[in-house]
Amino acid sequence: MPSLRAEISEIAVSPDHYIGGRRVASDTTFEVRSPLDWDWKLADVARGDALTADEAVTAANEAFDGWAARGPEGRAEILHRLADLIDDNIEAIATVECADMAMLLESLQARVVHRGAENFRNYADLAAGYTPREWSSKGTNNTVQRMPAGPAVIITPWNAPWLLSTWKLAPALAAGNPVILKPAEWSPLSASLLADLADEAGVPPGVLNIVQGIGEEVGAALVSDRRVRRISFTGSPETARHIGIAAAKNITPFTAELGGKGPLIVFADSDLEAAAKKGAGQYDDSGQVCLAGTRLLVEESVSAEFLEMFHRFTDEHVLGDSRAPSTTISPMIHPDHLARVEGFVERARGAGDTIVRGGERWKADGLWYEPTLIEPASNHSEVVQREVFGPVLTYQTFAAEAEAIELANSTDYGLSGIVYTGSEERAQRVGAAVRAGTVWVNTFLVRDLTAPFGGCRISGIGREGGDYALDFHSDLKTLQISEGSTG
Ligand code: NAD
Repeated sequence: MPSLRAEISEIAVSPDHYIGGRRVASDTTFEVRSPLDWDWKLADVARGDALTADEAVTAANEAFDGWAARGPEGRAEILHRLADLIDDNIEAIATVECADMAMLLESLQARVVHRGAENFRNYADLAAGYTPREWSSKGTNNTVQRMPAGPAVIITPWNAPWLLSTWKLAPALAAGNPVILKPAEWSPLSASLLADLADEAGVPPGVLNIVQGIGEEVGAALVSDRRVRRISFTGSPETARHIGIAAAKNITPFTAELGGKGPLIVFADSDLEAAAKKGAGQYDDSGQVCLAGTRLLVEESVSAEFLEMFHRFTDEHVLGDSRAPSTTISPMIHPDHLARVEGFVERARGAGDTIVRGGERWKADGLWYEPTLIEPASNHSEVVQREVFGPVLTYQTFAAEAEAIELANSTDYGLSGIVYTGSEERAQRVGAAVRAGTVWVNTFLVRDLTAPFGGCRISGIGREGGDYALDFHSDLKTLQISEGSTG
């Protein structure tokens, strides 16, 4: 296996901010370590403060008119160049992202990094291909125009930094808004590589700014700045509440993509083997996936058969170093997060829930947690009702479709749902009844970039994806001209 230490030092990753097209340091730094080996310090990263936030918003504000004036086609040209550069640098980005947050190297190389390029291409083309709605009504000719809104702040979580930052940056930039991105403090490094590529692609100074630091410090300062006209946040509901208050003070529109507690519902008429395999697949990425179906809800009549297959597929998982091709379960991001996950399982044990498998750290000297299955004492158990964000699934059975739907909708979350059934009618019925922003039937994680994406209830506010994201990043204007009045 190649030594990532050497590779990452060969790949120069700046630990500084990127503001107004240049690197800016801070007086203080914070330490970033690798989940692959906690003794491995990756970088001392600049710790931004209120002054850094002010500098970044000023740079974005100054760049606004020029970026907006380029129009969608002019911006698309630059964003396509950025996408091409991402594709040319897949190996370097994958290596850094793997060291920083321990996502499996193979999936980064094969899919995830390229998806960043696709995000930029998709939004560049979509914005440039916009056909304004036009119609006549009440003696006027009407047109809907998209006006760039102004500087946008984007705040991302640690669990999929590359994927999520490109997913959120692309529509903002394509719509004409300069951006200040603040990546999460546990995995800030791939964003720094993106700044270098943006520079090379010809993104003008101030159009893409990267500010590093702690959420409660520089993050809070950014979202409180009244010059910021859009905030796009992905993270936890707790943080969204703080950001929402700051946004409300300045009447700044914001979207929030938040946590999940998705059901994976398995009906007796489904391809049980496929369902059990997908069930065991919810442990991928150590369960640090907001969209995961973490509550297994299985029809009673096939419970024994499902469980036998589920355990067989779970036994096939390989815990290990994320750089090894055989590994399917990576270490968790941070010792604090591992301790949080352990806390959930310990409290479940204490409350009378049954630990069916797992429930322990895999090794004393690493950040892995065993794939864990818990049969809750009741649907009110904490482990059923709250997002764990680790390799911990719950197992419940149901007797009839109505009960499955009731259980599926019985948490405060509503991000995603997964249904396994062989019946078209049931697919439609249950798909419509599950309260979530996305429901997959007999599949999982298939994402069309033009589809709306977001959550119900505490899983989010607003929708991103496709035209929904471009509309969010624009001020929509209705232009009405009196018919026959202009010659
Ligand atoms: P978090 O809310 O703790 O942090 C997210 C980001 O917010 C970080 O960059 C952090 O620095 C910043 N932040 C914290 N306090 C802030 C403040 N007061 N003002 C401004 N910014 C602040 O979340 P996390 O632990 O990094 O991520 C895990 C959460 O993200 C989980 O709940 C997960 O489900 C969710 N998530 C949701 C999606 C989705 O698409 N719905 C995708 C991935 C992760």
